Amino acid sequence: MNHKINQLPQGNCYLDLHLHIDGAITPKIAIALAKIEGMSLPTTDEDELAKYLEAPKDGKNLVDYLKAFDLPVSLMQSQAAIKEAVYLVQEKLKSQGIIYAELRFAPQLHTKHGLTQKEVVEAAIEGLHRSDLKSNLILCCMRFENNKTENLETEKIAKEFLNCGVVAMDLAGPEADNPVEHYTEIFEQAKKDGIPFTIHAGEASGAESVRKAVELGASRIGHGVRSMEDISVVKLLAQKKIPLELCPTSNLDTKVFESLSEYPIEELIAEGVIVTLNSDNPVVSATNQKNEIKKIRKQFHLNNSQIKELLLNGAEVSFADDKTKKFIRTEISQVYA
Ligand SMILES: [Zn+2]
Repeated sequence: MNHKINQLPQGNCYLDLHLHIDGAITPKIAIALAKIEGMSLPTTDEDELAKYLEAPKDGKNLVDYLKAFDLPVSLMQSQAAIKEAVYLVQEKLKSQGIIYAELRFAPQLHTKHGLTQKEVVEAAIEGLHRSDLKSNLILCCMRFENNKTENLETEKIAKEFLNCGVVAMDLAGPEADNPVEHYTEIFEQAKKDGIPFTIHAGEASGAESVRKAVELGASRIGHGVRSMEDISVVKLLAQKKIPLELCPTSNLDTKVFESLSEYPIEELIAEGVIVTLNSDNPVVSATNQKNEIKKIRKQFHLNNSQIKELLLNGAEVSFADDKTKKFIRTEISQVYA
């Protein structure tokens, strides 16, 4: 059988619903931020600097992977740097053919030099509006111990800026040692306040973590690939129409899978789960959305109409308003006619 498939259409047209700002700081952006922060970098050679910003090649798990975020987070501790970072990341995404992005970050990680979470988010929104890329922010709570006050503060800020740049909340950080149920109070409050949320689950922990996130009311799941370990969880996702934000390269970096051939995208689709493709951390994982799509398409012999379906899923389950969703659908339909 001839598995040769058509090329992607000429016009680039992608969206990314799961992208961490601190995982998208290129060497060039890092150099610009260091100037603003008055910080010295380990090197100003972009190739050398890339080594500090990318996940360690010998990383064994999510905890190792997360170490690559220390430098970019340290470069975003003032309003000027945060604003610039959000703007420059969007410009980079635009240059890669992204037409809509949901950018996420944890405001509580940017208060080391005295900013309040509110000031952090105000700066991020200013940066967001400086670019003409259609985009929104997702505010992450963190899976730490003893940070309930900070997480509740993030929820409060998300409520204050909901639909004014912020569209949702998330729970990020080391999943294995910090299960979803430790954060119930935060997301119960988000539900009361009408803030939609996605939760990282089924990445470093198994299917049960996904089930708990769904039971808590997550309207999307970050990753969720390990739901395949329990078919009842897969069926729950399909039945409740809870989409997964899949990020294949990131899952290889954190050793959820040893090779792309094990990636269960076909099985999930066959079970009726809505899936979207995303980059997670384009710089840390040395990827971008186009690359994710190309890799998955090649590995699983998807044709352009299946790729179009994945992109349209993204439009449908994004936290964007109806007008923006319509714009994304129209753009995708023109390119993938
Ligand atoms: Zn993520």
